[in-house]
Amino acid sequence: MSEHRPISPTSRPRAGAAGWANGSLRILIIEDERDIAANIWDFLERRGYVVDHVADGAHGLMRATEGCFDVVILDLGLPGLDGLDLCRRLREAGQSVPVLMLTARDTLADCLRGFEHGTDDYLVKPFAMRELEVRIRALHRRRLPLQDASLHVGDLSYSPRSMLAERGGQSIPLTVAQGRILGLLMRTSPNVIHREELAFLLWGEEGGSFAALHTHICALRALIDRPFDDELLQTVHGIGYRLIANR
Ligand code: CA
Repeated sequence: MSEHRPISPTSRPRAGAAGWANGSLRILIIEDERDIAANIWDFLERRGYVVDHVADGAHGLMRATEGCFDVVILDLGLPGLDGLDLCRRLREAGQSVPVLMLTARDTLADCLRGFEHGTDDYLVKPFAMRELEVRIRALHRRRLPLQDASLHVGDLSYSPRSMLAERGGQSIPLTVAQGRILGLLMRTSPNVIHREELAFLLWGEEGGSFAALHTHICALRALIDRPFDDELLQTVHGIGYRLIANR
């Protein structure tokens, strides 16, 4: 299943012509208008940012919850899940990545409501690319102390950037799906995440089965719990999962 819809076939994050002058800030563009997305992409990549793009809300939410981005540029009007719902669900999933909302003049009032949903800043289309960059850098500066923060529950830690977990002095590499699940469980710990929410964040509206989710959970449990004395990952039968430190 495609996890994101790149603009160009060679679209994996990479250094732009300006090299890594911007400290490899990673920017996710969630925008369904291809011309706008391509313009933003080209500008930011020339300025040395690492850019990725998704064209619809459901996939955008999946990518944004991975915790791999420094700033998310989010269009308000998106097919499927709109920008406001996406932002609310992103915050409910415990993800604090700064969100810069893009809006048309006639939907500005809706956009301003976005601040209740966790939007950090907004720009009205059309905007100057230099203005976009100024906003991105301001959002990133505000968040700098949180950058690269590892997540911790009990003696388990996890870095979304490196996708490495660590427990009992052992480094545990995770798959993308395992990393997403663990990141969500750690950010929301000790609360339960409903399995419907986890399935949505993993596979979007097409959905995966609870059986597939269970398979990922079992694999994750084998890595982070089985070799150790106490169990952190708990199943709440018929509802979902949670990560909880017993000591
Ligand atoms: Ca749109």
